[in-house]
Amino acid sequence: MESGAIEYLRQNGVPQLMESLLADIVNAKPQRPYDYINLLTLLPPPTQTWPEPGTFPSLTTEEKQSCHNLLFNVFPIYADAAQHPKLLLYLEYMMQTLGAKNTFSIQTSTLRNFILRCYDSYDDRVPFHNFRHVFNVAQTYFVFATEQSGASNVLKPIEIFAGFVAALTHDLGHPGTNNPFHVATQSAIAMRYNNISVLENYHAAYAMHILKKENLMENHAVISPEDVACFNEIVISSILATDVSKHKSLFATLPLQDPDWTKAEHRRLGIMMLVECADISNEIRSHSFSEMWAPLVEEEFFRQGDRERQLGMKPKPAFTRGEPDIASEQIGFITYLCVPAYKACTALFPKMQASVDALERNKEAWEKMKKK
Ligand SMILES: [Zn+2]
Repeated sequence: MESGAIEYLRQNGVPQLMESLLADIVNAKPQRPYDYINLLTLLPPPTQTWPEPGTFPSLTTEEKQSCHNLLFNVFPIYADAAQHPKLLLYLEYMMQTLGAKNTFSIQTSTLRNFILRCYDSYDDRVPFHNFRHVFNVAQTYFVFATEQSGASNVLKPIEIFAGFVAALTHDLGHPGTNNPFHVATQSAIAMRYNNISVLENYHAAYAMHILKKENLMENHAVISPEDVACFNEIVISSILATDVSKHKSLFATLPLQDPDWTKAEHRRLGIMMLVECADISNEIRSHSFSEMWAPLVEEEFFRQGDRERQLGMKPKPAFTRGEPDIASEQIGFITYLCVPAYKACTALFPKMQASVDALERNKEAWEKMKKK
């Protein structure tokens, strides 16, 4: 994969100036070629092909129906790599349901290439921030936007579609390390984005490169340039809003009473909140789901802690193997991140209260599991 991508760059006329960058890549042994923000404009074509009927069964009516529900379970499908094409079919189904072809006249091949590029851009060696998480966020957003929140009654179809694209792209190229790690190690992307929402800026830029590469929304006969600009703005601002350290300032901008849905700004904030809540939705289903996600987050933290120790840094307790109590960590996550976010979202979309209730139930379940 790595050498293939470098070969691609050489064959496609990389100028002399890029040679030193390529040398850096070879020396640094990147996990994936797209770890390098400077190379995004040269993204190689998707390595996967679309699962065609005959080679892979189409979704049944029951399967299609299943992704309209928060009970959808991505774990068994993701665990079997041979079943991954099914996840692509689910994404296509959800995007078609949101109007890809009927409303925005996006060609099937364009939509599929876009989905394949997204799939290709997540690293399955990263324990948590891989395609399973992102699929889960996109599917959860789909349920929020179309079923649970009532958003489809007040937001425009292109706004809801933009939120789905943001959910699917919000962690593109995630390296499995967090913002403080990148800032502390002065990584290439931290330097690129001046230490500000480093990963989120990276994911958003990555999303825009893929969108441009595939011209997903460039059908100007159907979508006006103004709508494309609005679409892009929603995608970028929704991805940037997934930086949890910016929660306070984001919530301060919300119209906490009586949102005026005729205002584009309020509609944009509504989408941002739905995407953000979908991103931190591990605790809104039954407790058995929470118990599957939590160790994956923990393992990703521990691996970062291992790297920090190798670099002579002192990892925080949550990043140190053997130290944290997983139940206490989850209680903190629910209390300080999830509940404030979902309550803020409920102020905009009252039906989201069902998820606030689910958070409280899971918090109680973790309380019982806490180390005494
Ligand atoms: Zn995420």
